[in-house]
Amino acid sequence: MSRTADLVIVGGGIQACSTALHARMRGLSVIVIEKDTVARHASGVNAGGVRRMNRDYAELALSQRSMEIWNRIETLLDDDCGFQRAPQIKVAETEAQLDEMRARVADLNSMGYDHEVVLDQTQLRALVPAVSPHLIGALASLDDGFALPYQTTFAFQRKARALGACFHEGLAVEAVRRQGADWQISCRGGETFTGRYLLNCTGAWAGKLARQLGENAPIEAVAPMMLVTARLPHFCNAVVGGPVGRPLSFKQMANGTVVIGGGRRGTPDPDTNVSEIRFEHLRLSAAAALAIFPIMAQATIVRSWSGLEGFTPDDLPILGRSSTAENAFYACGFSGHGFQLGPGVGEVMAELIATGSTSTPIEKMSIKRFN
Ligand SMILES: Cc1cc2nc3c(=O)[nH]c(=O)nc-3n(C[C@H](O)[C@H](O)[C@H](O)COP(=O)(O)OP(=O)(O)OC[C@H]3O[C@@H](n4cnc5c(N)ncnc54)[C@H](O)[C@@H]3O)c2cc1C
Repeated sequence: MSRTADLVIVGGGIQACSTALHARMRGLSVIVIEKDTVARHASGVNAGGVRRMNRDYAELALSQRSMEIWNRIETLLDDDCGFQRAPQIKVAETEAQLDEMRARVADLNSMGYDHEVVLDQTQLRALVPAVSPHLIGALASLDDGFALPYQTTFAFQRKARALGACFHEGLAVEAVRRQGADWQISCRGGETFTGRYLLNCTGAWAGKLARQLGENAPIEAVAPMMLVTARLPHFCNAVVGGPVGRPLSFKQMANGTVVIGGGRRGTPDPDTNVSEIRFEHLRLSAAAALAIFPIMAQATIVRSWSGLEGFTPDDLPILGRSSTAENAFYACGFSGHGFQLGPGVGEVMAELIATGSTSTPIEKMSIKRFN
């Protein structure tokens, strides 16, 4: 397999696989180096939420660009990625919460976005009749959805590989350094690679490579947790988020199982590749689900897990070119919401690397904000 390419990507999650595909589509040769296996970490174990709703304003354009790709994902990847459209909604318990939602929608409308709407109690109950009667409305993005994380990341890898990208798994990158106009990338065990462009897609581990470029990528490893219930009769066709104080992401799969996540955290240990469940926190996710859906009193939990994800101090990703090193780039620090962004991140990063600029505004996600 080739040891030299135009672009060497470190990491093998969705951002790496998507960028590899889009870079190949632009004619760049690509090598991806992953220390474990592709999709082994956050990209393979996340909740699969394809959510534009409630994004930081700085991410809106990127999230929209990604959604355009999600809407044609089967044509792009020859795989449906388990993507199905479903409303994403965030419920409100108080008038103050509903007022904030109305203000947000007014802001979005003034910026030209109309994908988010506020639902009153009647509209909410028409959409999701099983919600608790104490909920008085919701913020909604009706044309969002969810997909299957493993299937999606593998589909990007498969298509990138079919177009000629080389994947090296089980190889940990230890050192990167400039050699003339190129990057030399050295792996544990002695293998080396050479690339004109270098892209750091190392998720929860991304701070280490950044330090080698003399840059501060303040990424904290965090372990978001998930649980799955036994099958229940079908009662929910939306992905439901909790209000302030009840972090929750809730969806019912076609087979009747309910998948619950949404912000409760386990214990991360990126040095050993492990994250552990904290059951005293996980039970708060179950309690939030019960508060929103009384029917969950009948549910039995059958499985739970956590995954390693990289969070930044402002919960925005680090995206774009290095501020210190020529031809080095970042796509990391997705702070618990990078799965939806993956297709768009790949397209934007490939555009930036191949042409020197991108039509999607990403300046607010620059690493410069930390240097
Ligand atoms: C439980 C959970 C639920 C989530 N739910 C959602 C959701 O519903 N919707 C959503 O949009 N997002 C969600 N996310 C977030 C989403 O999964 C991530 O933002 C996204 O997968 C990040 O992709 P990535 O490619 O940056 O990172 P990763 O998938 O972590 O990939 C990084 C890869 O880099 C590799 N690597 C690290 N260091 C090196 C090295 N030195 N050499 C070689 N390889 C290296 C790692 O082994 C890893 O495989 C969730 C995350 C978790 C954990």
